[in-house]
Amino acid sequence: MPLPASAAPSAHFLPFARPTIDEETIAGVAEVLRSGWITSGPQVKALEAKISEYCGGRPVRAFNSGTCTMEIALRIAGVGPGAEVITTPLSWVATSNVVLEVGARPVFADIDPVTRNLDLDRVEAAITPATRALIPVDVTGLPVDRDRLYALATKHHLRVVEDAAQAFGSQWRGRRIGAFGDFVSFSFHANKNITTAEGGCLVLNDDREARLAEQYRLQGVVRSGFDGMEVELVGGKFNLTDVAARIGLGQLPHLEAFTAQRRALARAYFELFAAAGAPDLGLRLPVPDFVNSNWHMFQVVLPEERLTVRRTEVMAQMHAAGIGTGVHYPAIHLFALYRRQGWKAGDFPHAEYAGRNLLTLPLFPAMTAADVRRVVVTLTDILLKHRKS
Ligand SMILES: *Cc1c(COP(=O)(O)O)cnc(C)c1O
Repeated sequence: MPLPASAAPSAHFLPFARPTIDEETIAGVAEVLRSGWITSGPQVKALEAKISEYCGGRPVRAFNSGTCTMEIALRIAGVGPGAEVITTPLSWVATSNVVLEVGARPVFADIDPVTRNLDLDRVEAAITPATRALIPVDVTGLPVDRDRLYALATKHHLRVVEDAAQAFGSQWRGRRIGAFGDFVSFSFHANKNITTAEGGCLVLNDDREARLAEQYRLQGVVRSGFDGMEVELVGGKFNLTDVAARIGLGQLPHLEAFTAQRRALARAYFELFAAAGAPDLGLRLPVPDFVNSNWHMFQVVLPEERLTVRRTEVMAQMHAAGIGTGVHYPAIHLFALYRRQGWKAGDFPHAEYAGRNLLTLPLFPAMTAADVRRVVVTLTDILLKHRKS
């Protein structure tokens, strides 16, 4: 079926993200569809087992998003009304929405403008007697310093829900993200490094937590024998389908190659931006980490003080040149929902600047170095054209 003309990019349009799904996976999904069992079943169990193996044998449960995973982690940790949870204002809004969802209060701490992740000194300064948990986010897959994070959490007796939605395939000091720490939440949304179209998983600490996660996942139901059923808590409807899980099973064998290709493309961005003189134009590049980061995204920060146009105009011109870009993300505390809770412009200057000026450039495994060159040339031309004199 042809797409409507308005949604059909030109043949050469380069999106900022695109999943890579092989024919074997497509055939596998067809097999699941023909099997007579298409919702949660053996494929979900197999996906959980594979990810658990990847995470050093820790318990893993799959869900239909990388949002409910965090909500459920907070519930398992007993975080609710009266509690404060410290997180970053520069993330997908799910990160703080889950805190509101469980009736607790999100408290923001500003980012480090270089890593664009939570500034842990500011996190420590934001801790109060009501603080119960931290939700650090590995933005673009660049990990938050896990040594400092867990030293802080231990010192103040706080639970940690790692929002590692973007960090599947990342590592910290040679250890995989997910293989250590407290709760770790991954997302398998279509744009993430490994996808199930929509989905996610939660890495837990022990069997007790895993059983609770299963209850929260499906209406609080506990089954025993052929017809035994009990309900002890209010759960939701958060189970992953076998159709989706089969996609994930077909993705996992490619994880290393996907990450290697993303790193290679990120390197090409640094080399070509340097050659194009982009730093002299004031363009800020990400941290050049080729060890820990899975390069979920390649983001630059536009120099607003040196440009005569805003980001939206830069994006429009990139789009006109056949290049997709994204904004990840506007600062959360400036959304109406959060302003109503008392947050305001000026509270977190680094996150606000990044929120206004970050630009996500195309990066996905099927891209080529020629695509990177095209992005770099197009963006530097636009910056030159609109430079303040
Ligand atoms: C994608 C993402 C989520 C949410 O994942 P969903 O699977 O879309 O619910 C949460 N936090 C961050 C940082 C993300 O990038």
